[in-house]
Amino acid sequence: AKEAGRGQVCFYSDEQTRASRERLEIEARLRLALERQELKVVYQPQIDLKTGELVGAEALLRWFDPQQGAISPAHFIPIAEQSGLILRLGHWVLEQVCEQGLRWQQQGYAPLTLAVNLSPYQVRHGKVLAMVQEVLASTGYPAQFLELELTESALMRQEDEAETLLDELKALGVSLALDDFGTGYSSLAYLKTFPIDVLKIDKSFVDDLESNQDDREIAATIVAMGHTLGLKVLAEGVETEEQFEWLRSLGCDYFQGYLKSPAVSAEEFVRFLQPKRDE
Ligand code: C2E
Ligand code: CA
Ligand code: CA
Ligand code: CA
Repeated sequence: AKEAGRGQVCFYSDEQTRASRERLEIEARLRLALERQELKVVYQPQIDLKTGELVGAEALLRWFDPQQGAISPAHFIPIAEQSGLILRLGHWVLEQVCEQGLRWQQQGYAPLTLAVNLSPYQVRHGKVLAMVQEVLASTGYPAQFLELELTESALMRQEDEAETLLDELKALGVSLALDDFGTGYSSLAYLKTFPIDVLKIDKSFVDDLESNQDDREIAATIVAMGHTLGLKVLAEGVETEEQFEWLRSLGCDYFQGYLKSPAVSAEEFVRFLQPKRDE
């Protein structure tokens, strides 16, 4: 048994070495990818549940590695966070999105809100206010059409600091969405005081809406609570007509999900855009 035990320890430490070596390797490749422009921002439409109209798009990062093909952000964002590379990456994403949004507006499309994810690391260490301010100024993108998505975990650390930061971001004119809502530990108190505009119901509550009474009640509660606080509520990861119908019957405002479209390239996204109406 001792032998086996020792063997196992050995096995684990090999695994750990391999994992950290892999992490370093991915990090190095990610740095190069950023320089070589192998990263791309894709856009997923956000739709008004009542009217079916496009209300916005969430910008999502993609990495196309020449050897490995597409690498999921779920895989490389955590690595970018550990190394601090997320700060450069986050700046790059925001810049791409603002430039793209401006281009669409200049091409005569009706302006829409573009949502950008901010990682907890960026929020805590990133001088995020200065970063957003700088990119808005350098690109000339109107702040009213930028939404920043934050998670509860990014905000939980120091509540008063978080509140100040959110107030300052709001003062720039952007809107704020609370991402993955319901999965972190939600304090109702901070929901009341934080200047949030949109709650995003996490996909995990949407997946089984057809079959799971608990999930339906959770979704209903989030919608009701959001509306009480004057917020819009968006459901993520909507894949089926049934989920769509449930969300509509609950009075949820917006959705995004494969039912409408996965995230697509900026070129492809043009098919969702509407010409600007003349006033
Ligand atoms: P998230 O912010 O919760 O983004 C939603 C994820 O759900 C995206 O995965 C999206 O492609 C996926 N999704 C949307 N609709 C559906 C659906 O109907 N079914 C299914 N199965 N999935 C759906 P993605 O693009 O792989 O991103 C994963 C996570 O990586 C994001 O989760 C976000 O936390 C992070 N991420 C992505 N881009 C960025 C970025 O630019 N900056 C930061 N900081 N994080 C990012
Ligand atoms: Ca998000
Ligand atoms: Ca989310
Ligand atoms: Ca998520």
